[in-house]
Amino acid sequence: MAEPQVEVRRSKRRRQTVSAYRDGDKVIVLLPARMSRAEEKKWVAEMLSRLQRSETRRRSPARDSDTALAQRCVELSEQYLDGRAEPRSIRWVPPMRTRWASCTPSTKAIRISDRLRDVPGWVLDYVLVHELAHLLVPGHGADFWKWVNRYPKTERAVGYLEGLSAAANLGLTMGDQED
Ligand SMILES: [Zn+2]
Repeated sequence: MAEPQVEVRRSKRRRQTVSAYRDGDKVIVLLPARMSRAEEKKWVAEMLSRLQRSETRRRSPARDSDTALAQRCVELSEQYLDGRAEPRSIRWVPPMRTRWASCTPSTKAIRISDRLRDVPGWVLDYVLVHELAHLLVPGHGADFWKWVNRYPKTERAVGYLEGLSAAANLGLTMGDQED
C-alpha cells in the first residue's frame, strides 16, 4: 500500500500524546504543539505504520479463499439486501487494470481484484455490497445507491478506495459493470 496523504495537526492542549486516525483518503496525525520537526517526522512515520498494522489486523476473513468470499456475500446480502442478491459465482481474480471488482448481471458472476485482499474488512464489505447490489439494479442510478447506502460505511469506504487509488497512482474506479 502506498503512503497516504497526511495532515498534521498541532494542539497546544496536547502535551504528550500523539494519535492518528483515517479520515476518508487522508490520515490525520495529532501532535503536541511543541514538538520539533525531527520529532514530527519520526512520529508521523511511526503512526502511519501503527495505523497500517491495526488495519491489517482488521482484514476480512473473506480474503482467505473464494469460499470465504462467498460466505461473506451470503451474510451481507442477508444483512443489507434482504437476502435478494444471489451471485452464481464469486471469486478472487488477479489485479485488473482499471477496476476493483466487476459484476456481470447476465451470468451473476462477480470478480474481486486481489488488490483488495489487504484492505480493512469494512472496505471489502462495501465492495461486496456494491457488486451484490448490481444483481438487483444495473447501473449506478438512485435506485442502485438506495440499496448500497444501507451499508452504513459506504461513504467512508468510497473515500478510502479513492485515496488508495490516488496514493498508488492506480486510477482505479468502481466503473465495474459488464453486461
Ligand atoms: Zn458498480
